[in-house]
Amino acid sequence: MLNTSRFLGYSKDEEGKLIIVPEEAEIVRRIYREFAGGYTYNVIARGLERDGILSPGKFENDNNFCSGEIWHPSTVKSILENEKYKGDALLQKTFNVDFLSKRQKNIGQVDSVFVENCIPAIISKELADMVKVELDRRKRIRNSSNESGRGKYCSKYPFSGLLVCNECFSKFRRHAQWSGDKKTPVWVCCKHQKTKGKDCKSLPIKESVLEQAFMDCIRRLGEDKETLIMQLTQNIEESLCTANTEAKEDIDLKIRALQDKMLELVRKLKTGEITVAIYNEEIIKLENSMQCYQKQKEAMTSHEEKLGEYQSRMKYMKTYLDKAFNFQEFDGFLLTNTVEQIMVINKHRIVFEFKCGFEYEMEI
Ligand SMILES: [Zn+2]
Repeated sequence: MLNTSRFLGYSKDEEGKLIIVPEEAEIVRRIYREFAGGYTYNVIARGLERDGILSPGKFENDNNFCSGEIWHPSTVKSILENEKYKGDALLQKTFNVDFLSKRQKNIGQVDSVFVENCIPAIISKELADMVKVELDRRKRIRNSSNESGRGKYCSKYPFSGLLVCNECFSKFRRHAQWSGDKKTPVWVCCKHQKTKGKDCKSLPIKESVLEQAFMDCIRRLGEDKETLIMQLTQNIEESLCTANTEAKEDIDLKIRALQDKMLELVRKLKTGEITVAIYNEEIIKLENSMQCYQKQKEAMTSHEEKLGEYQSRMKYMKTYLDKAFNFQEFDGFLLTNTVEQIMVINKHRIVFEFKCGFEYEMEI
């Protein structure tokens, strides 16, 4: 039922069963890890090309597909969106319209059956969830960038877009500072740099200092991770299940009551109990209230999504904290995966704001 051609990571054995091809599976894992770590499709594709890794087109001779040496960002994307890598499959994705015609894409004519763990997994559920969260997050950034013209997702360095100046709220950018013939990467507030320190006094910070601060922070968190994780889990679960669902049910009731009132108005208009003028006047009032409630409800849904995201981030963070004592060097992948923002108070004090919803202040 599953077609393995162009399905990087798998082939079929003599009985036609799917088996993992280890070296291909490693490529798939690399793509997932890099994406979760903040790389764009394009950067991932260029990296694969640079390392001489062939794209799926080369694994079987399909002329319609791109040649093996070139990785298209869209190929990377399709691999990331393929739910089969975590061992699940949406069976019946295609169905026979007519046995003479070609198979067509299922657009709802035949119910799809989602089967968990039915094929050997290449990607852990955890990493797959991370990628899902990241895909959704970038989609949101893209959507908001359409409105404001800003916020396009691109990141080249782990600290890109993370550092925020506490004095002027500008972002920090990477800058090479020369001392003699040696080049040192530093991060500097955009406004400070633009106005040569006139509009913002925030001073540049060496990248190596930031890296060290992050690793120290993770190590410290690792020392008391049980308490930290417990506290966070509790916070998330409490805010998820109590306040929010109650308020949401409450709003649903209010919306239903408004709908009833609207229907009542329509009935009164029909029977002539009220005039058109009164009807118009009343219905506008009701519609305004309705809009107000609907907005509140939307805000709550995004709050819920955010909490779900926190939960998934936290699970991920926990696996890292378990290994925290072994960290020898800075890990950019870990940074982009766990940190939402870094507030730069001054040259000697920064606050890491973690994606799972807590802050940690560090002296640097
Ligand atoms: Zn500044």
